[in-house]
Amino acid sequence: MTEFRLWQPPPSAESPETDPDAPQPLNLDAGPWVLRVLDIKQWAYCPRIVYFTYTLPTPRATPYKMEEGARVHEHLRERWKARGLPRRLPRGEVWWDVPLWAPELGLSGKLDLLILPDETTAIPVDLKHARRSFPGWKLQLAAYAWLVEHLFGRTVPEGYLYLTRPRKAEHVRMTARLRQRVRRLVDEIRTAIEQRTVPPATRQRGRCVNCEFRRFCNDVF
Ligand code: SF4
Repeated sequence: MTEFRLWQPPPSAESPETDPDAPQPLNLDAGPWVLRVLDIKQWAYCPRIVYFTYTLPTPRATPYKMEEGARVHEHLRERWKARGLPRRLPRGEVWWDVPLWAPELGLSGKLDLLILPDETTAIPVDLKHARRSFPGWKLQLAAYAWLVEHLFGRTVPEGYLYLTRPRKAEHVRMTARLRQRVRRLVDEIRTAIEQRTVPPATRQRGRCVNCEFRRFCNDVF
C-alpha cells in the first residue's frame, strides 16, 4: 500500500523563531506527497515561492501577516458562533475549520468554513484578512470545492471569499473552467517540484523586494 506524506515536523521545532506547524522541505525521493491548497494561491502569486518552499532545506518563520490573519480568524469564529453568520453569507448548517485530506487527488487543506444549506449541497467560505481580493484566491476556493466534492460527495456550485476588512462576501461560481484550471495547476505544481524544474519568476518584480527567497533568484536581479 502506498504511503502518502504531508510535511514533516521541523528539526528546530523548539526554536521560538520558527513555527512548529510550518511546512518543511520534503525528501521528495522518499515517496508520494500531498500539496496544500495554500500552495495554489502562492503559485499564482509567484511559482518560485512554492518551488523553494518544498525544495530548500531551511526551516522558516511564520510571516507576521499569517499570524495576524489567524488572530482575526479566531475572533470572527467566536463572534459568528455567538451571533450567527453575516447576512451576506447563505444559511445552513455550519462546520468550522474543516480538515480536507485527499492523497488520491494529491491535495490537502483546512477550510475556514463550510455551509451545508441542504442534504446534497455544500458551500465553502474562505476568510481573507484583506481589503480587496487577489485573483489566486478564486483558484484556492475552487480547490477547496474540489476536495469537498470528492470527500463528502456533495455538489459545490458556488463559494464565497469573505474579506474581513470591508466585511464583504464575494460570490464565486464554480464554473467548469475554474475547476479545470485547478486540476491543471495541481498537476503543473507537482510536476515542477518532482522533476526539480525551477518555474518562471513572477513578472511583478515589486513582489521580490521583501521576498525571503530573493537570494536564490539571481537571474531576476
Ligand atoms: S524573489 Fe521574486 S521571483 Fe524569486 S521567489 Fe521571490 S517573488 Fe518569486
